[in-house]
Amino acid sequence: MERNGRYDTSKIRVAVVLLVAAFALLILVSQWWWHQKNVSHVVGMIISLDDLKVEALAPDLPAAEGGIRVGDVILALNGQAVHNGKEYDAIAVGFEPGEPATFLVRRGEGTRELVIRPGAPFPWVRFGGNIFIVLAYMGIGIIALLQPLPDIRKWLLFIFTAAIALEFALPPVDIIGRPLVSDVAFMIYLLLSGIQFGVEVHLASSIPERHPVVKRHPWLVRTFYMVGLAVAGYFGLAYLNVNLQWSLPYCELIYGRFLFDFVFFPLWAMLLLYFLGSQALWFPDPLGRHQSGLVLLGIFPWLIYAFGITILNLRGLDEPFWLNDIFALILFPFPVAVFVAMYRYQLFDIQLVVRRGLVYSALTGAMVLIFYASIGAGSFLLSQLFGGGQASSIWLFAGTALLLGLLFQPLRSSFQNFIDVRFFPEQHAFRKRMMDLASRLPAHGKVPRMGRHLVAQLQKIFDLETAALYLREPVTNLLSPLAAVGPSESAAPETELWLLPAGDPEDNYLTRIQKPLKAERLRVRIPELAELLERHRAQYVVSLVGSSALIGLLFIGPKTTGERFRADEVEMLDYLARHISFVFENARLYESATYDSLTGILRREAAFERLEAELRRSVRYDRPLTVGMADLDNFKQVNDRYGHPVGDITLRRVATAIAADLRSSDIMGRYGGEEFLLIFPETNLQDAVDVSDRFRSRIEEIEFRGSDENPYHITISVGLASLAVDEKLDSAAVEILVRRADEALLKAKADGRNCIRTYPLV
Ligand code: GH3
Ligand code: MG
Ligand code: MG
Repeated sequence: MERNGRYDTSKIRVAVVLLVAAFALLILVSQWWWHQKNVSHVVGMIISLDDLKVEALAPDLPAAEGGIRVGDVILALNGQAVHNGKEYDAIAVGFEPGEPATFLVRRGEGTRELVIRPGAPFPWVRFGGNIFIVLAYMGIGIIALLQPLPDIRKWLLFIFTAAIALEFALPPVDIIGRPLVSDVAFMIYLLLSGIQFGVEVHLASSIPERHPVVKRHPWLVRTFYMVGLAVAGYFGLAYLNVNLQWSLPYCELIYGRFLFDFVFFPLWAMLLLYFLGSQALWFPDPLGRHQSGLVLLGIFPWLIYAFGITILNLRGLDEPFWLNDIFALILFPFPVAVFVAMYRYQLFDIQLVVRRGLVYSALTGAMVLIFYASIGAGSFLLSQLFGGGQASSIWLFAGTALLLGLLFQPLRSSFQNFIDVRFFPEQHAFRKRMMDLASRLPAHGKVPRMGRHLVAQLQKIFDLETAALYLREPVTNLLSPLAAVGPSESAAPETELWLLPAGDPEDNYLTRIQKPLKAERLRVRIPELAELLERHRAQYVVSLVGSSALIGLLFIGPKTTGERFRADEVEMLDYLARHISFVFENARLYESATYDSLTGILRREAAFERLEAELRRSVRYDRPLTVGMADLDNFKQVNDRYGHPVGDITLRRVATAIAADLRSSDIMGRYGGEEFLLIFPETNLQDAVDVSDRFRSRIEEIEFRGSDENPYHITISVGLASLAVDEKLDSAAVEILVRRADEALLKAKADGRNCIRTYPLV
């Protein structure tokens, strides 16, 4: 049961769930049975048990039909005087359905005798409603409890929902002639109410986290439970005291009811309102404020109910009959709201959804109104203008409707856009920045530059501490860092590679996800990535998935403000990922066809294409153009001495050194093994010589290190050839130019290497 150092309660949770569910269903069946027994005695009224005053009447049932009114006091049944509920029940239990019973009631000053035929249909609505509530509450509680999060609130929510489910499964308290069942049911009801009070207030004080007041005074939580149980206990004791004639001191039913109605419920409502309301207003993190606000919204029906009942009671009025029936529904939004706030909150940003939803529906409603008004006005006007009878006005009506229908959608979307800009400026600006980032990324050309731009922009937009992009090598399944921002320790050394777990399930997992994943989740699924997640302090990981396979992973670190990610931010990350996955995939495909993998410069074919284009341009606009050919001197020796891998590194560094001295308009390609083709547009021969000499001498200086201690040096030779201004070359011009540069290179080699020679040779 021990897992990750935390006690694994999953089995206990399942057992508790099954037990409570089975219990609830069992007593629900007993409720059905009791209803069944009760229906033949029922006349359909609520009477106060101490003075037999009629408090409420169910419409269409025998009592109402027989003429009883609210306020009547029952004096006698079938000729026998009755004084309290017990005596009433003793006679009512003998009622047979349909057989007349005489009720003597006092109404105002006088009395009257009424004939009533007891017996009601089985209360399917009430029973069915109870079944629904029991199942719905149990469902919510079970889902909450089975969540894999270590959170005490899920237990609180479960206990709360289970208590309510049990309350609604209890046998009815108004069973006629079965005082024991009624009393036990009422006692359990009180106990459950006491528990609900403690749990609900406790729960409300821990959303979105422990309320500051509770943090300062932890004993308050215990007090809530004690108050709940004490009030319920006192009421129960008073009830039993009166009912069983125990004659305990200070245990009057009227005190109990007073405590329950005028202290307990208002206190309950006020505590909930206070805890949730203050967090909704003042909790530092907006997400937490939204959570509390949502839960407050969920208990609003109940708050109104609780305050309403208090006011009714204060004014000496009784609650209407129908309130009983909808009470369960009044309670229901609360656990749903808590549940959503706790577990599924990430799915949507409540504040945004609600605000937007309200604004949009108001807008759409107004537009629909305007729409129909315009149709009406338009067709009326047109028919006035053109005259004509019924038939033509139908056509005009249809025509106007069509026109407005066509206009409706564009109008609506531009209105929505207007509202977004006007009322949700931050969100609008944020979305725009993200969309711009996605659409402008390709403009940054090569993959590494795109990567650097991407993480830098993300850091700015989200105000992130760290962000990193890793690309996956398709064949080897290696993850290699492309770009990272953040504190130096999290910036990845370029050489480090991470092997993604080979094989299907995990790789497919990352490919399947297709939405930003919380880092904790990924850590559990793919432990191999734990270190990498740690290094970048990733909060979210976004998979970049191309046409089929995983392209790379984007690690999103924490915000510098410490705030959590809003739902719309996560959504935009998802949008971005979908967009840029293809950008990176295409860029990589393009680069593998265009760039040489060892040196990162243009491949021979690509370089020749560019040369052709430059040549055409230079001929058409009569501009100078110089072509160069560079070759490493005695490079074979490096290979022979240190081996090919060292040779490769040397070659790459030389390429980098040459590129560093070229202008951005200059073009460099790998012509052959260690020969480079250089293209200098808009450059005459002398300027190209100067540039070439600069990198020639720079390369000469570089100290390379091989396998032994002694550094070695490398030199290069360069041949240059220019297109003469008046020279009109034909389609073979490219080959001619390159051959001339090659001839110059040979001259340079012949002249002792490490030098520049030009064509024509002198
Ligand atoms: P020089 O040009 O000064 O006349 O002498 P060299 O030794 O450089 O002669 P050449 O240009 O003919 O030699 C080409 C050598 O360069 C052959 C091969 O060993 C090496 N070479 C070519 N391409 C590569 C490569 O991609 N990697 C490595 N390590 N070596 C290469
Ligand atoms: Mg060479
Ligand atoms: Mg060569």
